[in-house]
Amino acid sequence: MTKVLYNHNIEEAVLQDKKIAVIGYGSQGHAHALNLKESGFDVVVGLRKGKSWDKAEEDGVEVNTVAEASKQADVVMVLLPDEYQPSIYKEHIEPNLESGNALVFAHGFNIHFSQIVPPSDVDVFLVAPKGPGHLVRRTFEDGAGVPALIGIYQDASGQAKDLALAYAKGVGGGRAGILETTFQEETETDLFGEQAVLCGGVTSLVKAGFETLTEAGYQPEVAYFECLHELKLIVDLLYEGGLEGMRYSISDTAQWGDFVSGPRIVDEDTKARMKDVLKDIQNGTFAQGWILENQANRPQFKAINARENQHQIETVGRELRELMPFVKQSKKKKDVIQNG
Ligand code: NDP
Ligand code: MG
Ligand code: MG
Repeated sequence: MTKVLYNHNIEEAVLQDKKIAVIGYGSQGHAHALNLKESGFDVVVGLRKGKSWDKAEEDGVEVNTVAEASKQADVVMVLLPDEYQPSIYKEHIEPNLESGNALVFAHGFNIHFSQIVPPSDVDVFLVAPKGPGHLVRRTFEDGAGVPALIGIYQDASGQAKDLALAYAKGVGGGRAGILETTFQEETETDLFGEQAVLCGGVTSLVKAGFETLTEAGYQPEVAYFECLHELKLIVDLLYEGGLEGMRYSISDTAQWGDFVSGPRIVDEDTKARMKDVLKDIQNGTFAQGWILENQANRPQFKAINARENQHQIETVGRELRELMPFVKQSKKKKDVIQNG
């Protein structure tokens, strides 16, 4: 098994005398800033004036502009939306990087696809918690943590790996396990996971199931419960005990149906198309499309999003969830499994 590192394997002294700038205070940013601060590190958050700035001040963390925070810091963690990172980096971060500083990311996209090209005299590494930011914070407060990946792209100081481990420990990753990866592996597996399985695969599967039932004349409310609501219960079992643990809890009839019908839904053709999706990620086709879409101000993204929100599973679901106050909407709509 690959070596997994935990808190007792990690010496954090290397980061103790350094100032850390956390750029952005969204899903990941607030979690990193608060967890690092409570782990005893010197943190400044870099932002523009606005909602996040006010929230960071309310939470009692030091806030400054992106340029000023980057200037003060030895370690600059970039937790802005991936699409905006290249331009903000060029204008506000790069001019304030000094030789020997560290530039850190939570996702490898912009480095791997060369949208950000850092100077050669800084460390560049990755600390990527494998979970949504709000869970990175909540689990930390509970004394637990979310597993984290680290990866070294550039080791100018000779200390990049020690810094990455100390940072990952500071955000709580060392309580759940830290694994070493590369920017390439993190970027490609993260994009594939969210496209084929976690987000794209699941939403398409749920919609197809819901449509199959409603088109056959069954009530949309029943179809909603069956194909969407219950998914959480199944996923919790998978999370706790893998496939076997889940199958232990369901009825034998459900398990037999799983065995005989599952492979009829996701078959060799589906897997061949997964391989196509992976190829488009590996050869840069997906990245190019997403970069161009952003340059054009997201015409397709907005059109598809508006259409998806009008799907019957959404209109029915909104009404049903209103009647189930215990089904809490996450504080931030996007804080679902956005990244594995
Ligand atoms: P969010 O969209 O949640 O947060 C973005 C933050 O950036 C906000 O605080 C926003 O502040 C700030 N911001 C946006 N534009 C600017 C600007 N022009 N100047 C200054 N600040 C700005 O981002 P995420 O936390 O989702 O993602 C951050 C990184 O973490 C990405 O690389 C992502 O891939 C990675 N990641 C995310 C995960 C997640 O759980 N979401 C999981 C693992 C990795 P304002 O209020 O002013 O708009
Ligand atoms: Mg059932
Ligand atoms: Mg992702």
